[in-house]
Amino acid sequence: MIRILFADKPENRPRYEGPLTRAIAQTGIVAEIVQPGETDPASVDYIVYSPQGPVQDFTPFTRAKAVLNLWAGVERVVGNETLTQPLCRMVDLGLERGMVEYVTGHVLRYHLGLDATLAAQDGVWRHDTGVPPLARDRSVVMLGLGALGRTCAEALAGLGFKVTGWSRTPKDISGIDCLSGPDGLHAALARAEILVSILPDTPGTTNLLNSETLALLPEGARIINPGRGTLIDDDALLAALDAGRVGHATLDVFRVEPLPPEHPYWAHPKVTVTPHIAAESRAETASEVVAENIRRGEAGEPFLYLVDRSRGY
Ligand code: NAP
Repeated sequence: MIRILFADKPENRPRYEGPLTRAIAQTGIVAEIVQPGETDPASVDYIVYSPQGPVQDFTPFTRAKAVLNLWAGVERVVGNETLTQPLCRMVDLGLERGMVEYVTGHVLRYHLGLDATLAAQDGVWRHDTGVPPLARDRSVVMLGLGALGRTCAEALAGLGFKVTGWSRTPKDISGIDCLSGPDGLHAALARAEILVSILPDTPGTTNLLNSETLALLPEGARIINPGRGTLIDDDALLAALDAGRVGHATLDVFRVEPLPPEHPYWAHPKVTVTPHIAAESRAETASEVVAENIRRGEAGEPFLYLVDRSRGY
């Protein structure tokens, strides 16, 4: 029998208990799922972790074979010096489909001008505003072509958008114009009528969108950021919105979360705030990935979605 410590927020345990128990049973492994405080840390084989959970010092978990993060983002654990065990992050269908729906929904909202449509329900029949562009006439840029960025970019290309993707290392993805490196970023920004970022929070992505890079965007560009809040220099974005350089921003992630009530984003007429809900970890699909990694650990096979801690994601 192996011992699995469920170290997410205690209130999430009821949601995970059934799915995790079932997913582990399906692997044929006999396991006991315990909570922090219920067992000797030195007897734990795997830690199911979230940054919101009670375990942040991994030193006592001398037997643990892996820390299995329920989140895709690892910025709050990757630099933890007490962590000596392999760290795996979450890549699963729930996060992927959630992100695709959030991104395509907000891209289509901008593309179709839905905010203006909803604001104009005033009895005036406006049929003289010209022929609206088709998706194939709209350039969308995706920063980040990882598990989530690539799938969203492919979904947008599937809707017909002209999609450019940008990543750290070069990529070749059918239907996407893939760029990389600093020159690639400048070229990508210059064509971004709608800019989406699904980049992780690392030293290399912090303040990537600043007054200099925002100035490269076409006038009135729209920004959608469900990646991480540190990507954006907030003062620079507010200035670009006020100047009309950026037409609107939809922001799901922030430097400080929850976004404080007094933050200027809340009241800004050109900002939509969503409360970090673009893609939620879902117990059913996340449990399957956790169980598969435990099966791999027990079989001596390589873990899925192992974080490269030197790279930071
Ligand atoms: P991933 O598979 O690790 O992909 C990360 C992508 O970013 C890769 O394409 C990577 O390039 C690129 N990248 C990293 N650093 C870069 C840099 N300095 N310059 C250029 N490109 C860089 O991650 P993922 O699963 O797609 O998730 C991405 C992020 O989404 C997570 O880290 C998390 O912060 C965020 N997220 C948000 C929510 C939400 O609800 N808002 C939910 C889930 C995830 P390479 O391909 O060249 O390595």
